[in-house]
Amino acid sequence: MKVLGVGAHPDDIEIFSGGTMAKYAERGDELTVAYVTDGQMGHPTLPPQEITAIRREEARAACDILGAEMIWLGFQDEFFFYNEESRIAFIDMIRRVGPDVIITHYPDFFSGDHTGVGQQTNDAAIVVNMPNLKTQHPPVEIPQVYFMDAPAGVGFVPDQYVDITDTFELKKKLVSCHKSQSEWLEWGYGVDYIELIEIVARFRGLQAGVRYAEGFKRVKKAFMGNITGDLLP
Ligand SMILES: [Zn+2]
Repeated sequence: MKVLGVGAHPDDIEIFSGGTMAKYAERGDELTVAYVTDGQMGHPTLPPQEITAIRREEARAACDILGAEMIWLGFQDEFFFYNEESRIAFIDMIRRVGPDVIITHYPDFFSGDHTGVGQQTNDAAIVVNMPNLKTQHPPVEIPQVYFMDAPAGVGFVPDQYVDITDTFELKKKLVSCHKSQSEWLEWGYGVDYIELIEIVARFRGLQAGVRYAEGFKRVKKAFMGNITGDLLP
């Protein structure tokens, strides 16, 4: 199977679905992680170009651990807009990868980038098969979209869970690749990101009846996918 993770910032896929991505990787699925924005706002003291370069390297390290292909779309951090430009870019990205499954943000209102990226990914996914819609890459079949958990689980009620007990240590490694964001989250929000992922995974784990879990919502669309088997690992 081909799996595409689409995260607004360098670290989102790792924080919200890293354990699940690791599970896909371990069973031999083909992974691609797309980082939509360049992360240039994500540091209290380093200037945009410098922090962007650092975050790109951190993303590269996480993708190397996962064995994932990396896509860096380069939209400006905190200025991602739901518009024609992003629609075309997302359609073409999905066509380039040809995924069976896409994991992306729940439009959770924590960040405009999260909301926009989740919405645009889901809306682009439904039109990737249309021959009259021309982009660089040819049409592909419509993939199944899953929304991943919201920051600290606020306002998010999962309808599916993935047991990540066995990949939780790996998830910690993936998140730890984004060392610059450890400083940023401490500085901006008073959050220790390892503590954050541990608490959320344990909380979702309690709901699911396992040690650690990640929660998802399966996007239901008319005419497709609603009676087929689950595509989460
Ligand atoms: Zn983010």
